[in-house]
Amino acid sequence: MTREPDWYASGRRHVWLPYTQMQTARPPLPVASASGMRLILADGRELVDGISSWWATVHGYRHPHIEAAVQRQLQTLPHVMLGGLAHEQAYILAERLANLLPGDLDHVFFSDSGSVAVEVAMKMAAQFWLNRGQRRVKFLCFRGGYHGDTFATMSVCDPDEGMHSLFKGALLEQVVVDLPRDAADEIALGELINRHRGELAGIIVEPLVQGAGGMVFHDPFTLQALRRLADAHDLLLIFDEIFVGLGRLGDALFACQIAGVQPDIVTLSKALTGGTLPLAATIASARIYEGFLSDDPLHALMHGPTYMGNAMGCAAANASLDLFESEPRLEQSRAIGKQLERLLAPARTLPGVRDVRVRGAIGVIQFDSPAPADRLSAACIERGVWLRPFRDILYTTPPLIAGEEDIAHIASAMVEAVIEWSQNPQA
Ligand SMILES: *Cc1c(COP(=O)(O)O)cnc(C)c1O
Repeated sequence: MTREPDWYASGRRHVWLPYTQMQTARPPLPVASASGMRLILADGRELVDGISSWWATVHGYRHPHIEAAVQRQLQTLPHVMLGGLAHEQAYILAERLANLLPGDLDHVFFSDSGSVAVEVAMKMAAQFWLNRGQRRVKFLCFRGGYHGDTFATMSVCDPDEGMHSLFKGALLEQVVVDLPRDAADEIALGELINRHRGELAGIIVEPLVQGAGGMVFHDPFTLQALRRLADAHDLLLIFDEIFVGLGRLGDALFACQIAGVQPDIVTLSKALTGGTLPLAATIASARIYEGFLSDDPLHALMHGPTYMGNAMGCAAANASLDLFESEPRLEQSRAIGKQLERLLAPARTLPGVRDVRVRGAIGVIQFDSPAPADRLSAACIERGVWLRPFRDILYTTPPLIAGEEDIAHIASAMVEAVIEWSQNPQA
């Protein structure tokens, strides 16, 4: 291996890494550049990216169409505040998102990260009721759920299994239940909601796939049941599509379309700019939006991240939406799923493997117990693939541009890494 780059050697003790025990963690891999499916490391090695930089780079790295759009924007207006000023890319993007989302999900509030988009969704839902003189500020949320790392979003994550369990008792109090999976669950949940009548603002859920909670899937039935319950009890339904939205599931751009359910509020981020720049959006229905219209200034949504609607981010997002229109991303997403289904199946019978599952362009190998993340990750890197297992799963969420060879490469690295581990668990 060649010498570490100077910036790496000198900066390493100063950078505090995400979700990382800094005392024991393996050092991160220095990346020099990236292109398409590939990360090019500082030492010249190339890795196929199997997770799209936390599920974001759906068109691969440095897609020329996005690159050109961001460059153009940089040379005209990189950023301007949205308070009192308007710019073309944010206005075009808002209209496009409103047109793409079903029904009257027409009102877009921009922010700069997924967690903030969820905070805004929660604030919108709670204030919707406060504006009507009702103090309903709690949320019904689900075991296995993940909605972000800030304080309010931590409170709607799984309180026990989640990565925020240490904060239990120190967060906003919510009502946490299992996802309803059949008619009996739906009835039971209705009774529970009744017991919390008058205090719940809404229901928040990751539609169809709980991502950071372990890539756990559920059927459209669950979401339809939640819509019925929300209607019956006058609760607002929030779909956090930050992970699954924008093509990951293949059958449509958004999970709400696949499930045939219209939520009251949707959050988007991750793939919104094609993984190019940080940007997020909270999109509300007409009813929610109108609940803030008033002669009373206090009824306004008092929120406004400094970088909200960043012009380069919006330009990247518009270019990303262009690509969803001009290239067969959904078809590619479905093809990736079919191939993963076939190529990951052999892992099903390996010792220590509890489940193998695929939904859209998400492939998961789940183990009986927590996975040795460093070891599995190293085994994949040895085979030229970047993957980052967590909890009890090794998973892939590849860029949707992945070719058959890329998927074969990723899947074989996954299966071989698991075989190697199962043959010598203690190594
Ligand atoms: C990643 C994620 C978030 C948080 O987004 P950040 O940009 O990391 O703050 C929220 N909800 C879901 C479903 C996510 O996958």
